[in-house]
Amino acid sequence: MSKEGIRSAAEILRKGGALVKDACIKCKGVQVRYQGRLICINCGNESIAEEGRYVSLSSLRDIIVSKINELGDSLKGEDDISRQADIARLLIYYIDILSKIDESSKVEREEMRKRSKERRESEDDNESAK
Ligand SMILES: [Zn+2]
Repeated sequence: MSKEGIRSAAEILRKGGALVKDACIKCKGVQVRYQGRLICINCGNESIAEEGRYVSLSSLRDIIVSKINELGDSLKGEDDISRQADIARLLIYYIDILSKIDESSKVEREEMRKRSKERRESEDDNESAK
């Protein structure tokens, strides 16, 4: 795994890239979709993105959590320091994704709450108008 790969994947997410459910065909890594391409955040493999295969945030969260668990297990059994560094970097990246997912679901929830509050208030207006 290259440092450049991780850096550019983080860059892609910042630019509005989307995480996808389909694993990389080469290494089974997590991929991001950007400008019609799928890019693996693990090995940097690029492929053409197919439309209509977006993943929901909650199922993506499950994928990331299971990846973190897998990485945790392999870190436990890893003696090679440079491999440990690779795993640790990937863990940081996954944890970063998790916090982004939690952030955006929080925003979604707040927007939903705001909308239902507005609806309640307009219903109250109707009540008092009677
Ligand atoms: Zn890959």
